[in-house]
Amino acid sequence: MTITIPSTLTIRTQNKFRSLVTKQAYKAGEIICPIPTESMSNKPTMYTVQIGRTKHVEVKELASMNHSCNPNTILDTTRMLVFATRDIAVGEELTFFYPSTEWEMSAPFICLCGAPNCIHVVAGARFLPLSTLENYYLNRHIREEMIELLNNTEYLLTNMERDHIHAQISKRNPSAS
Ligand SMILES: [Zn+2]
Repeated sequence: MTITIPSTLTIRTQNKFRSLVTKQAYKAGEIICPIPTESMSNKPTMYTVQIGRTKHVEVKELASMNHSCNPNTILDTTRMLVFATRDIAVGEELTFFYPSTEWEMSAPFICLCGAPNCIHVVAGARFLPLSTLENYYLNRHIREEMIELLNNTEYLLTNMERDHIHAQISKRNPSAS
């Protein structure tokens, strides 16, 4: 079965800039559409959404959905559904927070949304501080990557500390090694 976007959504093109617009209103929490799952890829492109640590799906028309630092939808990659995060009016553009699905993007860009909380560099969750990420809905694979990164940092720090202590001991007592 091929999933395409429902007829209630449409792609708008302005100066070659594409966006996904709704022709119907949605209530906060309402399901907008499923995320397509037919073509999987093991690397990100401009037309994929990351759904697991090494899994990306080509999302067809949904690839026209732009990033926002104050998005009106979330892409839930566990349930493979797009949800409205607040009430959305007819004619509004649908947006989501790219780092909520993307760990490391293939084509980073600068966000010019102008919001006070704008993250500016949209390159994936890996490049954002935890204090920023904690304000957003994040998918499971992003949380897993964050935990692994923190654990690796902890591991490196412990190793550095141990090496440092070892070097100090060796300096004081050259016979010990
Ligand atoms: Zn922004």
